[in-house]
Amino acid sequence: MNGIFCIFAKVAIKHLNLKLIMFLENKANREKNRGWVEVITGSMFSGKTEELIRRLRRAKIAGQRVEIFKPLVDTRYSLSEVVSHNANAILSTPVDSSGNIMLLCGDIDVVGIDEAQFFDVNLPVVCNSLANMGIRVIVAGLDMDFQGKPFGPMPQLMATAEYVTKVHAICMKCGNLAHYSHRLNASEKLLLLGETSDYEPLCRTCFQEN
Ligand code: ZN
Repeated sequence: MNGIFCIFAKVAIKHLNLKLIMFLENKANREKNRGWVEVITGSMFSGKTEELIRRLRRAKIAGQRVEIFKPLVDTRYSLSEVVSHNANAILSTPVDSSGNIMLLCGDIDVVGIDEAQFFDVNLPVVCNSLANMGIRVIVAGLDMDFQGKPFGPMPQLMATAEYVTKVHAICMKCGNLAHYSHRLNASEKLLLLGETSDYEPLCRTCFQEN
């Protein structure tokens, strides 16, 4: 009897933990003509793009009209796809400024924006305007640059969004939760796009030791 209770308790705790870490879309406002802004943020290799794609796919399956944008500067893999590191790709439109997102958002329900940190300072205004028009806006981007400083328009986006989800990577040195993107080479250029060879996720302690 004790054993069964233990299993029930473990399942309940697991369920509770999941509820605490997962973004639950059923909490979002589903009333007609009510938009909102969601931000998915964290370090490199924390699964931001995977989470963005998961939310967009679910909207698409439900028959909602979805448009996806990314900055023209992010040309690592493909010009026409939002690509995450596990090659779980979804088609997107590269744009050179946040103003163009407004122009390209026609009759749609959901807007996804990837690599938001590389957009200009007007991106929060654009996102809030879209939400005010009744559109669900889902933004994914790095919260900090390689020096641990807030990145581009992300702080303003996080401050004005209804929902903010911080995702974490695993520290490559000690295995704790990581939220810094440490650059492995000496370049000081902020706009260095790269994969595993250029960056490693580190926790606070290991980042400070570097
Ligand atoms: Zn560490």
